Amino acid sequence: MIADKKSLQTLLEIQELAIQNRKLEQEAKAISGGEEIESLRDAMLALSQQLNQKRSEHEDLLRELKRSEGELELVAKRTALDNQRLNQTAVSRDVAGIQHELETLRNRRMALEEVELELLERVEASNREQHELNLEKDSKEAELEAAKEIAKIRLADLKAIHLKNSQEISSKRSEVAGELIELFDKKFARGLAIGKLTKSTCGACNMNLNATSMTALANLSTDEVASCPECQAILIRA
Ligand SMILES: [Zn+2]
Repeated sequence: MIADKKSLQTLLEIQELAIQNRKLEQEAKAISGGEEIESLRDAMLALSQQLNQKRSEHEDLLRELKRSEGELELVAKRTALDNQRLNQTAVSRDVAGIQHELETLRNRRMALEEVELELLERVEASNREQHELNLEKDSKEAELEAAKEIAKIRLADLKAIHLKNSQEISSKRSEVAGELIELFDKKFARGLAIGKLTKSTCGACNMNLNATSMTALANLSTDEVASCPECQAILIRA
């Protein structure tokens, strides 16, 4: 096959653009797959679950608090009733009984008040924890949105460069004879399709060609398409 120097140079440029596009495609795929975005999403999900858990624990605390307040009210009512009864009776045995009950009620009230105090402290701590979790979630959400925005911008950039390269590739392809393009495509499907021969080194596979191969190349006419005996890439001879 015959090829002029300019066509071979064009094929080399097509190859460089095509390789660049492959890299762009890989980068775009990595961004779309979005490991960073995925891990931020996971973190958000974990925070949401933690928050839900905290909220339900908080509701339990409030219910407990209400129950203990209800009990305190009952104790207060009973105490008031007993005091009333104490004022109305003169029977010493009844007095002793009522006083004993009042003592029990007083102990019960003190125990309940202690419980209530502890519950109030836990409610306060729970409010604080929820607030902190919400802040953390907000910041993760902002991080996620920013990462998505950056990914979107980068993807748009990649797409624009890819499109420009593709247009350049098709314009360059139209400059090269169909037969030569076909050969190039076949070789490029397997690896590098073309490389510059520098001294005795193939630019595609970086192998040094031996003296026999070099002599064979030297015997080919300059416009004949030469291939590297190691990697089969088309060689651009100086
Ligand atoms: Zn080679």
